[in-house]
Amino acid sequence: VGVSALVVDGIGMLVTGDPTLGDGPLGVVRDAAMVIEHGRVVAVARSGVAGDERIDADGRCVIPGFVDSHTHLVFAGDRSEEFAARMAGRPYEAGGILDTVVATRAASFGALRAGATGRRAEARAGGTTHLEVKTGYGLALEPERRCCAVARELTDDVTLLGAHVVPPEFAGRADDYVRHVCDVLVPDGAPSARWVDVFCERGAFDADQSRAVLEAGRAAGLGLRVHANQLGSGPGAQLAAAMGAASADHCTHLDDVDRDALAASGTVATFLPAADFSTRQPYPDARRAIGAGVTVALATNCNPGSSYTTSMALCIALAVREMHMTVDEAVAAATLGGARALRRTDIGHLTPGARGDLVVLDAPSHVHLAYRPGVPLVHAVVEGGAVVIAPRG
Ligand SMILES: [Zn+2]
Repeated sequence: VGVSALVVDGIGMLVTGDPTLGDGPLGVVRDAAMVIEHGRVVAVARSGVAGDERIDADGRCVIPGFVDSHTHLVFAGDRSEEFAARMAGRPYEAGGILDTVVATRAASFGALRAGATGRRAEARAGGTTHLEVKTGYGLALEPERRCCAVARELTDDVTLLGAHVVPPEFAGRADDYVRHVCDVLVPDGAPSARWVDVFCERGAFDADQSRAVLEAGRAAGLGLRVHANQLGSGPGAQLAAAMGAASADHCTHLDDVDRDALAASGTVATFLPAADFSTRQPYPDARRAIGAGVTVALATNCNPGSSYTTSMALCIALAVREMHMTVDEAVAAATLGGARALRRTDIGHLTPGARGDLVVLDAPSHVHLAYRPGVPLVHAVVEGGAVVIAPRG
């Protein structure tokens, strides 16, 4: 049996994501070829290499596949009316999540799987080769189990978000629900999950409740993530830092103390600008976060209420246009940054040994991701060395 190799040849500009391999912070190599064997990158070479299977990039740009480290892909229902009303002037509040909970509880496993699989395919067509998927629209044992099982089919980065909002049957008894999350939902889901998450925000869970959920997750062997400082300043970012969470997500409203705490702990600040866009909120101050030494990531937060997009390219365009990130910073945040937010070293870059996850752009450089907003620029996608989106004809 021969070694099955995939060669991507004729790459005009290769973004390796590894500064030791090429120029600048993104490690850019010109006129390159990429050799992938057994699902892993084995070499970055000069153009003109042979292989069993070959993609001719014909001068196009190749980047590492996007790592979307924050999604809520598993849900049922539609909240387009809520979106239209919000755009007509009604402010966004955390409670709209309950509409999705009702629809998700009523949906069969098959319906949930079909919806989530469709969104996963949509993300892949946009260049996302790995994503994290949260539960959090079941909010009771049986529906959370169903959501977790669907998520597990899509990724090995499953996050338990039982502490998304307080469900109706616990109305007015948030502490009782937190106990239910800690004693029942987290231990039940932990064997098929890698992470626990909590929505630490006014209208959702306070600092003490959030800490209890994170401690229960840690006791069950899970890593920690926090929805923090989205709608206003609050304790989420500092709690995430103090508990050694992998990531604090949103971070739209940070102060200097928050930024210093994230920088010191190494907790990634994951910006979700498509949510700020879709809820007409201010954008995070990425420049101050980067200036303070915080590691940053970009993710879609794909969900039916506040950010119904799977497009990492949109997030890059918003980060550059609205958050004043450089194009290189934004592309790094959407690849390496996402991998760091998930504490993974095997994805987000194209160093030999990394997973063979890459995107051939129908563009001469990665700058086009921000320069040509809204335009589909994915020419081909390779995941684990397999061509999952064939080159456009
Ligand atoms: Zn979220």
